[in-house]
Amino acid sequence: MNENKMIVDLRSDTVTRPTAGMLEAMYSAKVGDDVFGEDETVNALQDKLSDLFGMEDALFCPSGTMTNQIGIKCFTNPMDEVICDETAHVYRYEGGGIAFNSSASVRLLYGDRGRLNADLIEPHVNPDNVHYPKSTLVVLENTVNRGGGSFYTLDQIEPIYHLCRLKNMSLHLDGARIFNALAETGDDPKEYGRMFDGISVCLSKGLGAPVGSVLLGSKETIYKAKRIRKVFGGGWRQAGFLAAAGIYALDHHINRLKDDHKNAKILADTLQSLPYVKSCMPADTNIVIFELDEKHDPEEFVEKLSHYGIKCNTFGKQMIRFVTHLDINDAMIDYTVQTLKKIH
Ligand SMILES: *Cc1c(COP(=O)(O)O)cnc(C)c1O
Repeated sequence: MNENKMIVDLRSDTVTRPTAGMLEAMYSAKVGDDVFGEDETVNALQDKLSDLFGMEDALFCPSGTMTNQIGIKCFTNPMDEVICDETAHVYRYEGGGIAFNSSASVRLLYGDRGRLNADLIEPHVNPDNVHYPKSTLVVLENTVNRGGGSFYTLDQIEPIYHLCRLKNMSLHLDGARIFNALAETGDDPKEYGRMFDGISVCLSKGLGAPVGSVLLGSKETIYKAKRIRKVFGGGWRQAGFLAAAGIYALDHHINRLKDDHKNAKILADTLQSLPYVKSCMPADTNIVIFELDEKHDPEEFVEKLSHYGIKCNTFGKQMIRFVTHLDINDAMIDYTVQTLKKIH
């Protein structure tokens, strides 16, 4: 079935392996004890990203879940309420962390493929009344994972930013794939720095670093964040070896993200034409989410593709997700297209 033994891993953009150049950068990194603030490569990564987004300070952490959870804890007090979309990673995929780490409740909204707008949020901001939890934080995700990689433009975020200022709420961005959004919109990252109080950026998704995310914020926020990272067990030592991979990723892997988007579109175009596919979300960036018809069991479909060396995940009822990334090349896309056409 899979004569050439090609493996096409479309499960996630987290599966990438460091390139030779990235490994070289890691090997030669100058390191120190980051809990003492003495790792110069970690400091360089933090400076590089805070400069890029025009924010005062940054904190390198082991995962995007940790940067989001630290951000949420910085911007809320126990008994507060966080407003986000029902598809949000911070709600769905962080193990109930908002309740556990921040003792806050959540108001879920139903946006457009995971994207909120000010009119949708406004009626759900609680009035100052002893019965209600205080609405103190709005979290946006860009791009939206469960929205099939949908993204916001700046004009869509601006009114949400104004609403947050008006209502005294903080605004946090889960920017796990922010560079995928920026690759499509061409927006200036400093505009994000202006509007958001906290930004979480993943280096281990499409950018291809093995580990790491960075939380961006004001000096005051990051000072607080450092205490929270420590109590979460995320104070690390010679983390510069990992920060070096992050710096390398920012220097070499941003411009190529468009290739992943092109590949995702090729897969989506193919899927749309197939009889066993009921619907496919527009592939706006590097994520393709599609729905199988009732005759096809999604678990069996994943199993069938795996016999051809193509790996993917189910993504809810009848749904399958493909994610393109650095380790997916043109030949793999051709092979996947041919395979999808062949099976039924
Ligand atoms: C992957 C991801 C994260 C962070 O995940 P980690 O695996 O903890 O690094 C956060 N938000 C979104 C939207 C993601 O896709």
